[in-house]
Amino acid sequence: MTDYKPTERTRIRRRPERGSYDRDLVYRIIDEALLCHVAFVLDGEPHVLPTTVTRIANDIYIHGSNKNGLLTALAQGATASIAITHTDGVVVGRSGFGCSLEYRSVVAFGTATLVPPEDKERIMNEVLQDIIPGFGGRRLKPSELATTQILKFPLDEVSAKVRNHGNSDVQGDYELDLWAGVIPLSIVAGEPVSDQKLKTGIPVPEYAQTYHR
Ligand SMILES: Cc1cc2nc3c(=O)[nH]c(=O)nc-3n(C[C@H](O)[C@H](O)[C@H](O)COP(=O)(O)OP(=O)(O)OC[C@H]3O[C@@H](n4cnc5c(N)ncnc54)[C@H](O)[C@@H]3O)c2cc1C
Repeated sequence: MTDYKPTERTRIRRRPERGSYDRDLVYRIIDEALLCHVAFVLDGEPHVLPTTVTRIANDIYIHGSNKNGLLTALAQGATASIAITHTDGVVVGRSGFGCSLEYRSVVAFGTATLVPPEDKERIMNEVLQDIIPGFGGRRLKPSELATTQILKFPLDEVSAKVRNHGNSDVQGDYELDLWAGVIPLSIVAGEPVSDQKLKTGIPVPEYAQTYHR
């Protein structure tokens, strides 16, 4: 598959050497994420919606209740800017100017379309498997699907940006007797906590014990 083409909106001007339009990199950043932030303007006011995200092929999907006003506005065609971010480390510099974060991020611009009713169950199952690989819950009921809206955004206008080069201090500061380095950060799953209402004799499934992003 070809890489994304920069547009007037997605051309990275600041620190372009950290920018990328590599489709595989964009997909990897999105696939590791549990959530995205969707920004858009509604009635002249800016809004941002933090929400779960799943990529299927070259589209990303967000979902929620039919009563979710922001999702409904997006479904009616508001242009959205979507950000997905991973913080990979805290860069401790020899001065505040040398402090930073290591990160991988994606920004996409797009307009949503509503997933039609006949595709909702398939998409929701893929969303569930994306968030909880191996999930084995009961099938979604038609009534549950009916109260859920799913929005699809094509990944057409997309950029990625990555900072992963460690310290970058002001020249003279390297002579200072101060520690500098990177404190790595990552998402680490804890020990699963069973529901208090769990029927007796149900073990924690393998997928919950080995959960990771
Ligand atoms: C976790 C994290 C922390 C950051 N902390 C800071 C900070 O403290 N201060 C700071 O100035 N910047 C920070 N950045 C970088 C910030 O996201 C911008 O890239 C930077 O501020 C330049 O903004 P700009 O509007 O001048 O970018 P421009 O280069 O003018 O942006 C043009 C276009 O490039 C694309 N683009 C810009 N930034 C990104 C990005 N991060 N990911 C994907 N595409 C992008 C978008 O399509 C955007 O419309 C951080 C980024 C991340 C992910």
